[in-house]
Amino acid sequence: MIVDCHGHYTTAPQALWDWRKAQVGNKAPDPGGPKISDDEIRESLEANQLKLQRQRGSDVTFFSPRAGSMEHHVGDAAISAAWSRVQNDLIHRVCSLYPKNFAAVCQLPQSPGVGPQNCVAELERCVKELGFVGCNLNPDPSGGWWKEPPLTDKWWYPVYEKMVELDVPAMVHVSSSCNPAFHFTGAHYINADTTAFMQLIQGDLFKDFPKLRLVIPHGGGAVPYHWGRYRGLAQDMKKPLLKDHLLGNVFFDTCVYHQPGIDLLLKVIPAENILFASEMVGAVRGIDPETGQYYDDTKRYIENNKELDASKKRQIFEGNARRVYPRWKPATS
Ligand SMILES: [Zn+2]
Repeated sequence: MIVDCHGHYTTAPQALWDWRKAQVGNKAPDPGGPKISDDEIRESLEANQLKLQRQRGSDVTFFSPRAGSMEHHVGDAAISAAWSRVQNDLIHRVCSLYPKNFAAVCQLPQSPGVGPQNCVAELERCVKELGFVGCNLNPDPSGGWWKEPPLTDKWWYPVYEKMVELDVPAMVHVSSSCNPAFHFTGAHYINADTTAFMQLIQGDLFKDFPKLRLVIPHGGGAVPYHWGRYRGLAQDMKKPLLKDHLLGNVFFDTCVYHQPGIDLLLKVIPAENILFASEMVGAVRGIDPETGQYYDDTKRYIENNKELDASKKRQIFEGNARRVYPRWKPATS
């Protein structure tokens, strides 16, 4: 079985984005959420994510609202709460229509300067009432200005406590950038992945939360490429070896869009810490003229890797996802 742990509803029907536009423009959108039929949901997926699952041979995608649309920096905590609820309810409908193809991951109602305890109720609703298997945690709700404390600060602890209680991981995932210095998917995303890992090196978060699990997307940003730098920095800071300090709790996905990048990831990071992902219909949608294949068809790169044996590849494709997202069970009907 092939489990893609990182997908977003980038193709959601226009009514969702219209609802958001009205909300942001103070035009009193329907408090019941946008009017979207089941057929509109089916259409939005059949020609996109479902078609690609079939073509590329993946079975299930852990599916969350479009990351750039979380926009925690827009409006206040009440705006973020209403928007998160609408987005998560729509993801729940997708997963109810296609329980074999999608498992739900929620957006949290974060807001700049507001402690993440305000996310606990929505996380609990999504997991306990709606069967979500994980959440996306934004380390920078200010959208490119990095105003919040590092992820190791006690400020974040209420949401970690709830994640551990519910036994769900978080993918550390920023939203769009409102800092013109940082291109959103090219710089802000990769910066955030790298920044989150460095924050975790500096702190001792997993001493307080030995069962907490964080997935760093986009192959861990610059981390695998600069593994020597991070090992050396940890050593200078008198931290334990990275494998003991972080790798019991931190995982990387495979959203890396070329063969040499995947080969490096698979060589540097232990296979137990890597989860298959493509983020398809996401940041990079084109075809690589050098290979004639879609950049984001990452399954191909893992299959083509010559170093790892079949059992390690199975771990990456399925086993690790089951371990990191224990609430996910394949749908039987
Ligand atoms: Zn993403």
